[in-house]
Amino acid sequence: MVTSTLILDLVEAMIVVPRGQTVEVPLRGPDLKGDQALVTAWCLRTGNELVEVNNGVATLRRGLRQNPLVGLAPNQVPGTRLWMYTNFDCNLACDYCCVRSSPRAERRALGVDRVRRLANEAVAAGVVELVLTGGEPFLLPDIEELVEACTSVLPTTLLTNGMLLHGRRLERLRRMDRERLALQISLDSPTPGLHDSHRGAGSWARAVEGIRTAQSEGFRVRVAATLDGPRSDELAEFREFLHHLGIRSEDQVIRALAHRGLADKGLELTVDTLIPEVTVTADGIYWHPVSADDEDQLISREIFPLKGAIDEVPPGLPPTAQERTRRPNGSLAPS
Ligand code: SF4
Repeated sequence: MVTSTLILDLVEAMIVVPRGQTVEVPLRGPDLKGDQALVTAWCLRTGNELVEVNNGVATLRRGLRQNPLVGLAPNQVPGTRLWMYTNFDCNLACDYCCVRSSPRAERRALGVDRVRRLANEAVAAGVVELVLTGGEPFLLPDIEELVEACTSVLPTTLLTNGMLLHGRRLERLRRMDRERLALQISLDSPTPGLHDSHRGAGSWARAVEGIRTAQSEGFRVRVAATLDGPRSDELAEFREFLHHLGIRSEDQVIRALAHRGLADKGLELTVDTLIPEVTVTADGIYWHPVSADDEDQLISREIFPLKGAIDEVPPGLPPTAQERTRRPNGSLAPS
């Protein structure tokens, strides 16, 4: 009787939501495990998806998820790009930093030996592009060796806030490989107001100066902006400003604010919604660079061998609750 009532609940809840949307259905109890097994079986029979069961409430999606990997460019397929967090300390303390970097953050450096080994193993694992990020990588005295370890084997992008490109750090930049290295510099707005409100007074002007310096030194420069739901006219003004700066359309990386790290709002990003991008830090392997300081997206504490770590990240969709119930430990990655 309880069984048929629960099925009626499922049917009633599901018929009123559009395809692709989720709905919550309280389980009946007292046999919650039995209820969950019933919901799982019902979803399998009806072509719907059990997203999760939490505190006696089942979240179901009407229909099955669309595979977000369909239509991805070849270099965006998980496992073809490797992210490495060189360090976590930063000269800035942005109020939305997804990995909680600041001048007070512990360095937690990967170091040249590990970066070199990772870069070499990445080639063997089929990776086609390396990305170095932080924290602020130019704080590191061995940044030149770190970059060389990467550019000697694969095209590499180095993420920076662009504020330190002078003096001895500029000399280090000048010795880097212009053919294999692109710089990605953070800039959030066409005028100082918004950028400085998140990153600190004067940071916009120094970032723009850093962009011009890197360009004049002959490096390819991408600009990355983190924005919280901009209006289309603001976006158009920003893109026009970037064109004036000499940043090509394909080098304008405008992304939404993520509700991660220090951000108090933004997109909710979970392993169910994020396409994985294998990310290595001194603490382990993570699902995605935006979550590289969060235990919920830690894949493995073991960095080496890299191929083994990459294989921990599923090549397709992350497992659903239905799939996880078939694994003895309910772990994220395939066991
Ligand atoms: S967002 Fe970038 S520049 Fe700002 S604190 Fe974090 S790592 Fe540093």
